[in-house]
Amino acid sequence: MSYDDVREVDPAVADALAGERERQNETLAMIASENHVSEAVLEAQGSELTNKYAEGYPGERYYGGCEYADDVESLAIERAKELFGADHVNVQPHSGSSANMGVYFSVLEPGDKILSLDLTHGGHLSHGHPANFAGQLYDVEQYEVDPETGRLDYESLREIAEAFEPDMIVSGFSAYPREVEWGEIQAAADAVDAYHMADIAHITGLVAAGEHPSPVGVADFVTGSTHKTIRAGRGGIIMCDEQYADDVDSAVFPGAQGGPLMHNIAGKAVGFEEALDPAFDQYAAQVVRNAEVLGETLQDHGFSLVSGGTDTHLVLVDLRDSHPDVSGGDAEEALEEVGIVLNANTVPDESRSAFDPPGFAPARPR
Ligand SMILES: *Cc1c(COP(=O)(O)O)cnc(C)c1O
Repeated sequence: MSYDDVREVDPAVADALAGERERQNETLAMIASENHVSEAVLEAQGSELTNKYAEGYPGERYYGGCEYADDVESLAIERAKELFGADHVNVQPHSGSSANMGVYFSVLEPGDKILSLDLTHGGHLSHGHPANFAGQLYDVEQYEVDPETGRLDYESLREIAEAFEPDMIVSGFSAYPREVEWGEIQAAADAVDAYHMADIAHITGLVAAGEHPSPVGVADFVTGSTHKTIRAGRGGIIMCDEQYADDVDSAVFPGAQGGPLMHNIAGKAVGFEEALDPAFDQYAAQVVRNAEVLGETLQDHGFSLVSGGTDTHLVLVDLRDSHPDVSGGDAEEALEEVGIVLNANTVPDESRSAFDPPGFAPARPR
């Protein structure tokens, strides 16, 4: 893709786009939530579908001229169903956060209770942080990882659930390097008659490839992003049982969103097709293996890892033991100078702010 047409109209943006392309080509992208899409996904995302309004769902749109939009969305849905074994799929959420909004709006009322993992322990803003709509609309209680092991403590989660009696337990995490036992969380939810939403935003690709156990068929709702480990372009996805299908669909549109980003949905369709290829399974296995070797190598060089290692694509370094005077932000800056791009990150039970945390999270999404 050349930026010739952009350059003719807008040299300043053309320069920035060319600069970003060069930056991506010349640096090592170690941000665990990022990935690089194929040329095929990029082309689909940059397609003429950006011009199309398609409010509604395939076969039931509020606009004419939707036959190709219908084809694309139906393909994305069918492929996601095959990939994840899901009963019902909604591919319209604009992002992972919007997918979570869609689920909350489908079965919760404002003021209802959500139990989720603390942000500094690996949770996500959209799980109920006070700065996010979820924290403002719902009554949120948080669980934490075990301070000794850095791992989820399912027994403590059950106890907190029994005391708080949430309407929904949220699982699935942003900065948690270990395998999640979805059944344990489902049992905690069942015990208090709460819904369970598993947000696999980070590990969508690992779940699709069978490199991480799947919550589909275990949790009531599964949400994900499509631009992280699954590299299908920017966006979100919701999966659920047929019994919640109508509630979820109407919560996404017209509840939370207007017209779907059909060009992004085309990217999802193409990315899911790529993920159905056995080569994707090999890729995902290699991602996990690479992260494991990276984690071991860092430990051999004296770094501490939160939870002592990784089962996923993500490695979280805790600098407090090895480099008490270096913050995650310092590490991020120093590494960027030599072409390695990653993100400073909070670690469990720290006292620094999220803008100057003591950890960093190098990982290798590709
Ligand atoms: C990345 C992430 C999201 C949301 O992603 P956006 O697409 O940036 O809105 C949601 N949940 C978790 C756990 C994530 O890691």
